[in-house]
Amino acid sequence: MATKNFDVVVIGAGPGGYIAAIRAAQLGFNTACIDEWKNDKGGPAPGGTCTNVGCIPSKALLQSSEHFEHAGHSFAAHGIGVGSLSIDVATMLGRKNTVVKQNNDGILYLFKKNKVAFFHGRGSFAKAEGGGYEIAIAGATSETITGKHVIVATGSTARALPGAPFDEQQILSNDGALRIPSVPKRLALVGAGVIGLEMGSVWRRLGAEVTVLEALPSFLGAVDEQIAKEASRAFAKQGLKIELGVKIGDVRTSAAGVSVAYANAKGDARTLEVDKLIVSIGRMANTDGLNAEAVGLKLDERGTVAVDDDCRTNLPNVWAVGDVVRGPMLAHKAEEEGVAVAERIAGQHGHVNFNTIPWVIYTSPEIAWVGQTEQQLKAAGRAYRAGSFPFIANGRARALGDTTGLVKMLADATTDEILGVHIVGPMASELIAEAVVAMEFKASSEDLARICHAHPSLSEAMKEAALAVDKRTLNF
Ligand SMILES: Cc1cc2nc3c(=O)[nH]c(=O)nc-3n(C[C@H](O)[C@H](O)[C@H](O)COP(=O)(O)OP(=O)(O)OC[C@H]3O[C@@H](n4cnc5c(N)ncnc54)[C@H](O)[C@@H]3O)c2cc1C
Repeated sequence: MATKNFDVVVIGAGPGGYIAAIRAAQLGFNTACIDEWKNDKGGPAPGGTCTNVGCIPSKALLQSSEHFEHAGHSFAAHGIGVGSLSIDVATMLGRKNTVVKQNNDGILYLFKKNKVAFFHGRGSFAKAEGGGYEIAIAGATSETITGKHVIVATGSTARALPGAPFDEQQILSNDGALRIPSVPKRLALVGAGVIGLEMGSVWRRLGAEVTVLEALPSFLGAVDEQIAKEASRAFAKQGLKIELGVKIGDVRTSAAGVSVAYANAKGDARTLEVDKLIVSIGRMANTDGLNAEAVGLKLDERGTVAVDDDCRTNLPNVWAVGDVVRGPMLAHKAEEEGVAVAERIAGQHGHVNFNTIPWVIYTSPEIAWVGQTEQQLKAAGRAYRAGSFPFIANGRARALGDTTGLVKMLADATTDEILGVHIVGPMASELIAEAVVAMEFKASSEDLARICHAHPSLSEAMKEAALAVDKRTLNF
């Protein structure tokens, strides 16, 4: 069989890889993308962690569980009676699977539309060959292709607790956490990060008694302190139990459930008996099966593919993007790197601005931020002015019946350039986009304060936070 030769071969079709492949094809390169993820029928399921067991299915379940919570707790205030409420978890999971499949199919369609050759199987480096690379594909059939450029976008996998491997029945990674077949009575989570809080929210809203165990002494340490405090208060009110500063000991499983031994912040020995345990203590770069040694691809001490600021590896024409390299493990960061690399291959000047990458936690209230926190500005000795505006004073939030939280803006004390925006409250995930645009264009808080915002809208809280920087809010 003749070897197929490509200008660009992308290994991995998560958000980093599939977007890189599409952009490379748009730029006129003969492009291939290889991905090994299988759906439940053994067929291709491009989209990576994000589509299959991450961003998309978690948001589908968060939506279902939010509807359930609203029906149980909020509808009555609107005069809507629903009688007795029930949740059919199988239907909820089925809907989630449909959403995932729509995204898988969408990517296959985009590959066709952009003439990206898709290969279903595991791609690994065979050898460097004539200025390019031979990539072996092991799937339903095996073949070898060559690429002048290779983009590694093999993503990440969940890290297990030492001595407590994932069985996905009782000790669950994000994968198992997204397909628990019935609402557990008692659920524990180790790790109060983004994934832990989102998964905990889903099952708490559906009736599970949820305890989150976190090793760090502070809650959401990377988040602006004021925002983290507000979120912590809201979660406690909802009944999410969060224990900080714990040290996890033995984890044992039995027919009765999971027993988690730990020392609390005071050092007292405790044991938590639960039906399921979700472990979300971080993710590891996925370089298994790449056969990096065959070509001398360098990994760093953390096991991620070592790259420079432009995603170049130590090998000529081999690039790496997304979760498999340094930086935040976020789908949109992976996508931006994928686009930038394809453009650099084309001799253009692709660029990713790490200062304006937004972060979102899709709990309720949602938490979103961009730029620097107040603690970071203080530590850097930067003079700033801060302004905040609570949703309780926003008409749209009152009409929605969701007035928890605030928008907080930080701006340079001299130039007034916006340095950070932090939101906890309704639709924070959507509102943050305005702040990202503003910061990308180096806007001042005065710029945002003078922009006309639709009334009544949650976005008025952004304008008011900008006004608050200059101590001239109009509605608070
Ligand atoms: C529960 C959960 C919720 C999340 N929610 C969000 C969110 O709301 N927003 C957000 O921005 N991020 C979220 N993330 C993070 C996000 O999923 C990742 O940052 C993103 O998927 C990284 O994209 P990637 O392309 O680098 O890698 P991945 O999405 O991991 O994709 C890598 C792909 O490469 C394939 N692969 C690996 N090795 C090979 C090989 N040798 N040959 C062929 N194929 C291979 C894998 O099968 C996979 O399909 C979430 C993650 C989790 C776990």
